Amino acid sequence: MPDFMEDKSRVNRALDWYYGVIQGRYPPKFKIARSLPIDVDPTTMSDEELWLLHGEMEAEFRKRLNEIKEEGASWKTEDAFLSYLDLKVEILKRMLTHCEFCERKCGTNRLVSKGKYCRVDYRGQVSSFFLHYGEEYPLVPSGTIFYSGCNFRCVYCQNFEISQLVPLRGMFVDARMLASMEDRLIKEGAKNINHVGGEPTPHAHVILESFKYMREAAPQIWNSNFYMSEKLTRLLKDVIDLWLPDFKYWEPSHASSLSAAPRYRDVVTRNLLTIRWEGSIILRHLILPNHVDCCSIPIMKWLSEKMPKEWLVVNIMDQYYPTYRVVFEEERWGDLKRRITREEYETVVNFAKREGILLI
Ligand code: SF4
Repeated sequence: MPDFMEDKSRVNRALDWYYGVIQGRYPPKFKIARSLPIDVDPTTMSDEELWLLHGEMEAEFRKRLNEIKEEGASWKTEDAFLSYLDLKVEILKRMLTHCEFCERKCGTNRLVSKGKYCRVDYRGQVSSFFLHYGEEYPLVPSGTIFYSGCNFRCVYCQNFEISQLVPLRGMFVDARMLASMEDRLIKEGAKNINHVGGEPTPHAHVILESFKYMREAAPQIWNSNFYMSEKLTRLLKDVIDLWLPDFKYWEPSHASSLSAAPRYRDVVTRNLLTIRWEGSIILRHLILPNHVDCCSIPIMKWLSEKMPKEWLVVNIMDQYYPTYRVVFEEERWGDLKRRITREEYETVVNFAKREGILLI
């Protein structure tokens, strides 16, 4: 069998949960969360009680997921009057007053002001949404929703118009409007809903609440810099079907200088370990010029040692080009002023292959 056919069937196996949702073998996780009842109104509970109940519901969710996956139980259940999903939404809404959605944990009260780094207040903001044909082949056409704002400051950001320029551009949306965008994208032929930006993290409360109103059953993709706090990662775990994390840097000082992201490696590896058994994963690594030995190779090594190879698909990306501050302040970011070489690309790809990583 030619290599690409073998790789394609390995990719299909690795993305079993994602394809299962598309084919109707499995429900999207948000539908399971929506069907699991809770017997207390979450708006009447203390923060501590909410998290205690969330812990119990995580165990309920695991049980239900196993019945569906391993025992073939029917998943066509009714929505609960009050559900595990309502519980998550209530926790997120409370967190808005002292925001710790992302690892910056800046504590902004987003009901009255914009996030210190993300510049997003309590409102969801969408810069555009459309069927995207430029994503990895299992995803297209992808129902992509681009949220405004970002908690990073990447000097080479290829989406800086929507992530960095202030005031942020885009239409303000509430959960019902977002759900109707999601339904519309699926009706137009999208295979999935792909939450991206900018960065989706500051919009997590609106995104999860939209799942209460979404009618279509489609896989949900979290396409993110993966700098979520532990709490947000936990809240997302049982509603996201396919994870699309970036893993940009290994060397912490490079993450600090190029993206203003302290403790980047610790945060991203922690979050990857949290979700490694929780649905399908396509991890993206954009090779940066002059960052092969310090970042790309150690990242591939870590992935091969710590992530489950049978469930992980990696996209090694060669499309870096100098833009944004690398161009505006070129004397400062000299080593990023060129595209990567063929040799740099092949060095990373060959290393990943030798480590047995499944590439797409
Ligand atoms: S999402 Fe925004 S407001 Fe919330 S912790 Fe991160 S930077 Fe601060």
